[in-house]
Amino acid sequence: MRIARDLPTLRAEAARLGPLALVPTMGALHAGHLALVAAARREAAAMGGAVAASIFVNPLQFGPQEDLARYPRDEAGDLAALEAAGCDLAWLPGVEAMYPPGHGTAIEVAGPSEGWEGAARPGHFRGVATVCAKLFLQTGARVALFGEKDWQQLQVVRRMARDLDLPVRIIGYPTVREADGLAMSSRNRFLSGEERAKASALHAALQGVAQALAAGVPATAALAEMRSGLAAQGFAVDYLALVEPETLRETAALPGRLIAAARLGTVRLLDNIAAG
Ligand code: AMP
Repeated sequence: MRIARDLPTLRAEAARLGPLALVPTMGALHAGHLALVAAARREAAAMGGAVAASIFVNPLQFGPQEDLARYPRDEAGDLAALEAAGCDLAWLPGVEAMYPPGHGTAIEVAGPSEGWEGAARPGHFRGVATVCAKLFLQTGARVALFGEKDWQQLQVVRRMARDLDLPVRIIGYPTVREADGLAMSSRNRFLSGEERAKASALHAALQGVAQALAAGVPATAALAEMRSGLAAQGFAVDYLALVEPETLRETAALPGRLIAAARLGTVRLLDNIAAG
């Protein structure tokens, strides 16, 4: 696996490797990220190209009160995991390389970025869209893979790629879960033992709502019941909602996407599933 830490090296490697399938990450890699790399391998094989993964903890997508400083970092472990997963090129830009002094351009995606994570984390999707556009242009990737785990992010990136006619195909990959249903996340390591034992209740709640909806229970009633159920178990629920899958607009109609964010202690858990 080649490692690029500056743009000239990245461009030279990319030219050598042919069409790239890119997996953008913030590192602290787990089996969910590595499943994206495996899927990227299949895409790369189909187009006679190679797999690239980026590791960049993007300061632009963290709010001033958020966990940028404590975001987990393990470069050596990540590089070993990427190599073992068959990644051909690791792109590890420093903050200075990504945002040189004086940088002043950002991408604002209206529509799917509004509400939910966009409301809870002002500026978050501006940071995500800006860094993803840069990663696509830096690598020249023909395909980029994103996890459905971050459903709203996936819709924001798709919207941006469409709106800007970026020559990259965005592929969503199903959420990889722990045995008890908890969606894998780099932040799960911050759960205490007791919190970890409770955490899978979020996924169970989403499944409970999906079953209730399928049985004809009105969305508002099913959602309200699960919100109070989660609160009773110690979750601080930021939102639990049924939305149109692509626009993220709230809906009562199926098929939709059930999305949730809830805090357990200091850890904010995100999850979503299809409904209907
Ligand atoms: P992150 O490093 O958290 O920015 O995630 C990098 C990519 O991996 C994003 O496209 C995420 O949606 C995806 N991802 C994170 N966790 C999972 C998971 N449990 N299953 C599938 N994809 C995931």
